[in-house]
Amino acid sequence: GGKSYIFMIRTRIPAGVLTSDQMLVELDLCDELGNETLRITSRQGLQHHGVMKEGLQPLAQKLKQVGLSTLGACGDVNRNVMCCPAPLFGDSVRREMQETASKLADHLAPRTGAYREIFLQDPETGEKEKIATGEVVEPLYGKQYLPRKFKMGMALPEDNCIDVYTHDLGMICVHENGQILGYNILVGGGQGRTPSADKTFPALGQRLTFVTTEQLIPVIEAIVKVQRDFGNREDRKVARMKYLIHNWGLEKFKAKVEEYYGSSLPEPHPADVHGFDDHKGWHAQGDGKWFYGLNVENGRIKDDETMQLKTAIRKICRQFNPGIRLTAHQDIIFSDINEADKEALIEILKSHQVPLTEDISNVRRWSMACVAWPTCGLSITESERALPGIIDGLEAELAKLGLAAEEFTVRMTGCPNGCARPYNSDVGLVGRAKEKYTLFLGGRLLGNRLSFIYKDMVPAGDVTPELTKVFAFFKAAREEGESFGDFCHRQGKEAIEAAVGQ
Ligand code: SF4
Repeated sequence: GGKSYIFMIRTRIPAGVLTSDQMLVELDLCDELGNETLRITSRQGLQHHGVMKEGLQPLAQKLKQVGLSTLGACGDVNRNVMCCPAPLFGDSVRREMQETASKLADHLAPRTGAYREIFLQDPETGEKEKIATGEVVEPLYGKQYLPRKFKMGMALPEDNCIDVYTHDLGMICVHENGQILGYNILVGGGQGRTPSADKTFPALGQRLTFVTTEQLIPVIEAIVKVQRDFGNREDRKVARMKYLIHNWGLEKFKAKVEEYYGSSLPEPHPADVHGFDDHKGWHAQGDGKWFYGLNVENGRIKDDETMQLKTAIRKICRQFNPGIRLTAHQDIIFSDINEADKEALIEILKSHQVPLTEDISNVRRWSMACVAWPTCGLSITESERALPGIIDGLEAELAKLGLAAEEFTVRMTGCPNGCARPYNSDVGLVGRAKEKYTLFLGGRLLGNRLSFIYKDMVPAGDVTPELTKVFAFFKAAREEGESFGDFCHRQGKEAIEAAVGQ
């Protein structure tokens, strides 16, 4: 026989909101057509790995039947629209934002009929949906789509759980007394870099303007069109919007957006991010019910000897029919739980050996890794399979130093693409060669500062000892209340190296 191909398929889930029924279908599909695991992504999506070519159509069709879609989850278009997923139903601001995220996703979805024709034709009869009549007009994307992928996310000043500074287009909701006044628009964030190409770099979004809710879609369209028409189409390495803004400068970029929008745009509102909530553990929803945020290590839902998370999630969905929310930290939230059912839900987790939020260490709680080996075609080395062991080591060392209560982010990726957002975290580990990593320090939980390269080509086995030395320095020389990332940023690479003796 010829070659066999396996695929990764990703569902686009605006704000990470889905139902128990949809979740159960996703879990069944991973068993029937994938590698029996389901992956929560760092962009609030779900991924199936190891799907054979013959499985693509049935999988996409089944998802469509339950109101889900993979359209726009990949490709040079707007990707999944991220938004704080917390089911705080007493909070009208969050509710409205989540609805807006969903509207934006629909508005920015490609109109092409090709997706339906290729993936959604009836597999039994082989009959195609009749759609390819005449030319499909893409009002936003035109003939050529965008030069590169385009990412968007919406955050609140008090809760930047979606890492708003890392998106091509970030929105910070400005609100007062339960009313949304509008959004601060950030442009030109992006995590990927290519170490061999100096012209590439991770970037944080820059504050462009403030828009009212009515202006939001027209201004977003203007921004997307500027990138469509002026983004680099010759060299994919520098095709993201951050490079256009870098080359032009923010002022020229803004002038072009104003020209496309047809009116001048004000300065941003002073509101900025100042808090971060990972939504784990039990929280009152504000409508008499409760939600539980469960830590899913590196977003991987599976059953094995150590824990039966997949079975536990199925049981919870069947027994309580909760709403499901996926977080940007690759975790899952069960919503709409009655007070009387809280204990039973926890019992299901416990009886399947799933660690509860209250039982895991802070360093594990705030860590995340991308997929990498064996299923990501771009990976250079391990990430998801390596991080848990590194965290075991860090847990032990932090406990010895009396630093177990510190809150800081550790993010690891198997290549410089940066899918787990390692360039603005307190500690970043980026795959550089087989079992070698670039070690970044000095970002922060709040996500609004880039880290610096502390060391390159660190062997996997040296990561914990290298970090332990820096933790010891932190313990000795920190200012009161200073976080690990802030400390590293204040000291800088040379001072840390001098202090740890190299
Ligand atoms: Fe793959 Fe690289 Fe993204 Fe990790 S960061 S999932 S290795 S592309």
